Amino acid sequence: MDLKEKDKEYIINSYARYNSVLMRGTSATAIDNDNREIIDFGSGIGVNSLGFANENWANAVCRQVKKLQHTSNLFYNEPSILLAEELINISHMKKVFFCNSGAEANEAALKIARKFSYDKYGTGRNKILSLNNSFHGRTIATLSLTGQDSFHKFFYPFVDSHFYSNPDIESIEKIIDDDFAAIFIELIQGEGGVNVLDYEFVRQLEKFCIKKDLLLIVDEVQTGIGRTGKMFCYEHYGINPNIVTLAKGLGGGLPIGACLVDQRCSKVIRAGEHGTTFGGNPVVAAGALEVLRTLLNDDFLDQVNLKAKLFRDILADIPEIKAVSGIGLMIGIELPEYINAREFADKCLENGLIVLTAKSKIRLLPPLNISEDEINSGMRRFIFTLKEFISKEQIQDNI
Ligand SMILES: *Cc1c(COP(=O)(O)O)cnc(C)c1O
Repeated sequence: MDLKEKDKEYIINSYARYNSVLMRGTSATAIDNDNREIIDFGSGIGVNSLGFANENWANAVCRQVKKLQHTSNLFYNEPSILLAEELINISHMKKVFFCNSGAEANEAALKIARKFSYDKYGTGRNKILSLNNSFHGRTIATLSLTGQDSFHKFFYPFVDSHFYSNPDIESIEKIIDDDFAAIFIELIQGEGGVNVLDYEFVRQLEKFCIKKDLLLIVDEVQTGIGRTGKMFCYEHYGINPNIVTLAKGLGGGLPIGACLVDQRCSKVIRAGEHGTTFGGNPVVAAGALEVLRTLLNDDFLDQVNLKAKLFRDILADIPEIKAVSGIGLMIGIELPEYINAREFADKCLENGLIVLTAKSKIRLLPPLNISEDEINSGMRRFIFTLKEFISKEQIQDNI
């Protein structure tokens, strides 16, 4: 059996994998097991924020793993403390809880919201509102927070205190009653199709939350840590969420989740009320700290914005592309409707380019430090692939 066959044989088939075994890489260029060079516009779904095997990041991780790999949360550990300090310095938040994934960060947010409400109002005020088309994770609680039925089937029953709304204030006002504790949103729905929430709506929503004493929780698992050209996407909106969750890009490739809370929520959880064995792991934290320090370098985020502009300028010149969405290096691309996104992504890979899908769109989440050369050569492969689909369609039209 070759590697792909063994994967299918031994690993639960929960993923529709792309037809490639990635072996190694540098920056935004991977080498697969056929020794092919592949440009990466996906960064492992927004995780490898500094690309493959970034030297400073790898050194930080290796130094730490040779020193001390785990302590348990019964002890203080230096990298997690330094990482927490840095996260608090760059946000308007007060404290952080570390865990291992986006879903787990959102679970922490849910528990903190419930406890906050319990402490202030007593039992019963525990409903949470999220938005239709959202994605918040795969655990039972975060799945029930995810406003997409396609993810729900087979897995009932769910948490009965989660409700969904369309992203407009009138709809939200109709649903909210006195038993709600929080509103949970992604500012750009990633899995839902790279849909940017309307600025005016988000600002109204913040006011509404203040009026009703609801916590505003922003899931920045995909949008956070430089992805949109600012450290946090909420900065684009000028809002101050009560809770912000992070994961994907924070660790630079190692599993980490973080739940940041503001002053009001900073004392909700006390010893013994929440926890996780691996949270704040020193090796993972050392890597994340290197990611943050890199992003804080003079012009790193300016470079992200320049690269985002380069992508968007090239895309704007392709007449067949119907629309481009997202902010910064979180890019949604609407193809002509006769092109299936997954088939397009498969074809891109054949042509040496990794792209992602989000519903019917193509989604790009390249490493934040992708080079201009990699952008240009990846986009040439993108356009080459698109032309293959277009000419096939034209031939069919002529038959
Ligand atoms: C990926 C993602 C999650 C889930 O993160 P996991 O690490 O897979 O649990 C949650 N919310 C958003 C917005 C995401 O993009």
